[in-house]
Amino acid sequence: MAPSGDDIIVSERKLEMILSMKGGKGEASYANNSQAQAKHARSMLHLLKETLETVQLKPSSETAFAVADLGCSSGTNTLFTVNVIIQHMIKRYESSGYVLPEFSAYFSDLPSNDFNTLFQLLPPLAMGSMEECLVTDNHRSFFAAAVPGSFYRRLFPTRSINFFHSAFSLHWLSQVPESVMDKRSTAYNKGRVFIHGADEETAGAYKKQYQSDLASFLRFRSLEMRSGGSMFLVCLGRTSVDPTDQSGPGLLFGTHFQDAWNDLVQEGLITNEKRDTFNIPVYASSLQDFREVVEADGSFTINKLEIFKGGSPLVVNKPDDAAEVGRALANSCRSVAGVLVDAHIGEQLSEELFSRVEHRGTAHAKEALEQIQFYHIVASLSFAQMKTKKK
Ligand code: SAH
Repeated sequence: MAPSGDDIIVSERKLEMILSMKGGKGEASYANNSQAQAKHARSMLHLLKETLETVQLKPSSETAFAVADLGCSSGTNTLFTVNVIIQHMIKRYESSGYVLPEFSAYFSDLPSNDFNTLFQLLPPLAMGSMEECLVTDNHRSFFAAAVPGSFYRRLFPTRSINFFHSAFSLHWLSQVPESVMDKRSTAYNKGRVFIHGADEETAGAYKKQYQSDLASFLRFRSLEMRSGGSMFLVCLGRTSVDPTDQSGPGLLFGTHFQDAWNDLVQEGLITNEKRDTFNIPVYASSLQDFREVVEADGSFTINKLEIFKGGSPLVVNKPDDAAEVGRALANSCRSVAGVLVDAHIGEQLSEELFSRVEHRGTAHAKEALEQIQFYHIVASLSFAQMKTKKK
């Protein structure tokens, strides 16, 4: 039985209007399920600092040094990183003998992001006076603002940002490619909710979407970046050249999560078509996929472009406790994909789905911990030039 048209919610509403990580501070919130990202980000801090060393200092500046974190989400990860960036730049300025500029930090994400939870975590501003800094041991030395919008579009005024940072975000596509949702197309993702193990055409459509999105990202950042600026980008990557092998995220969304969707179909709770029209809009890129786009754009020189093993996305206190692993797996999937699942099948069925993910994760706890390993593409790019000609 085909679902009625108004059943299909996600395909009719723009992804950028609904996508967000799970907000708030609850058990399945992103704020409570992003310790793995925090750990992976900390293991790459030396690379972030190397990139900060490439930013050109200005002897004196009337405008603030501007840092933007793109895909900041809510929770402490973005605050930690932005603080590292600004403290590093303060040190560089202090040892250069140049006048210390003021600093602005822009926290940017899609409009549905829980900016409220994020800003409630922001420490108070203490600038200039030493006494002010001493009385508040936890303070910030930058002005903060939120910038809602998709990083695949313009976000900032021309030549206004010195440093762009983006972590664990650029693997989110701007949309599920239309052909993947079209029953008549050879790229229709029949029987699956992700491209791991899917047909070549389906994965090819995702790759094309990823490369065109990344090209838009670079084009707009090259307009917004000030001369002498740099970017540090981290996103999910894969080691295989074959896009139907999505490595860690492939296993996260392609095994227990996929099986849980199949459970709902088998139990008659949803139709095949309802499952098939749900697709996770994530693409783990190969280094080659990524490099091709940066080189074709031509506005940035590559200081470093590498793939790193990040490790497991599951952070558990007791790895031998299968129930804890199952719960961590379900919460981890839910914190990133829950909002999309809710929009597609409603909260009640979403609850059913994630309880099955938890169940399956508990039954296969050992494999889940060992096999789901994330790789990250890390790119350090410096702004080289403005493109003179439009293609
Ligand atoms: N940088 C954070 C959060 C990563 S979660 C950390 O290190 O923990 C990924 C974030 O990317 C989510 O908040 C999601 O809303 C955001 N995102 C996905 N697509 C986006 C887009 N097109 N524009 C802006 N943000 C996007």
